[in-house]
Amino acid sequence: MNTTKIGWIGLGNMGIPMAEQLIKADYAVTVYNRSKEKEAALKEMGALIAETPKNLISQTEVIILMVSDDAAIEQIFNGPEGLFSVEISGKIIVNMSTVSPAISKEMAALCKEKGAEYLDAPVSGSVKQAETGQLVIMVGGDEAAFEQVKPILEKMGKMVVRLGDAGVGNVAKLAINSLLALYTQGLAETVVFANQQGIKTEDLLNLLNNGAIANVFTKIKGDAIIADNYKPAFALKHIVKDLNLAKAIGLNSPLAKTTLQTFEAATTRYGEEDLIAVIKQVKG
Ligand code: NAP
Repeated sequence: MNTTKIGWIGLGNMGIPMAEQLIKADYAVTVYNRSKEKEAALKEMGALIAETPKNLISQTEVIILMVSDDAAIEQIFNGPEGLFSVEISGKIIVNMSTVSPAISKEMAALCKEKGAEYLDAPVSGSVKQAETGQLVIMVGGDEAAFEQVKPILEKMGKMVVRLGDAGVGNVAKLAINSLLALYTQGLAETVVFANQQGIKTEDLLNLLNNGAIANVFTKIKGDAIIADNYKPAFALKHIVKDLNLAKAIGLNSPLAKTTLQTFEAATTRYGEEDLIAVIKQVKG
């Protein structure tokens, strides 16, 4: 058994398979999720359950967060039963959610004041990569704290890199997700254009997937479009969040503006579906 006691907060599409990697790697993991019913699967695998973030941090040394957005982070740190409601000196808190660089800088400074460390460590990759420990993890924050938690992160990722101080991991992640959004919009527009000109979706995707711009994303999302399967691996509402976070720190290009408009229009109807459901919006 690995001796570091890990606390895990956030059991969504990504949090469940990521926490599972740590249990499989023989770490003692205590989990907390706002909706308690999602904790059962982890309990069956051997995880302990904490009633609140406050209880969780008291029992653990390295605390990992994988939740939706800045509002969730605010709640988990500053809520009445939150991480900041108890003594946290000596703890390392690793926030793997995609959030704003601003909230990471704020929480890193507050943690330092309380004798703890905060790292932002967002991930590139989706549920499939989470299930196989093949994520790419980009980290901002204190170097010594990073070296301490790196072996833990390596259980979830094939690449774990520290880029600089607090918030820098989030900036890198927002840059990557901006390209993801532009690419998704481009793929959707290409399929719709080809269909309008009489080309079948299957035929177009077959050509694309065997041609010079073939890639894993087009293959996976192409299969989803053909099967009309929009079950969320990465919910459309989350890419809207990420484009808005990128906009807030200066992404304002013509392509980014148009893409944000399309995704915002799509999110009211398709927000809980996978991001490739944007094709339904593009079709009109
Ligand atoms: P998800 O399935 O929507 O899960 C969100 C998690 O956050 C749930 O555990 C939810 O709790 C919790 N949460 C939300 N608001 C909360 C609050 N106010 N207080 C406490 N907990 C709260 O999201 P996901 O797909 O796992 O993504 C998690 C993060 O990773 C997001 O920042 C996302 O952008 C990023 N990300 C996702 C992917 C992907 O492919 N899915 C890939 C890379 C990065 P409940 O269960 O109670 O709702």
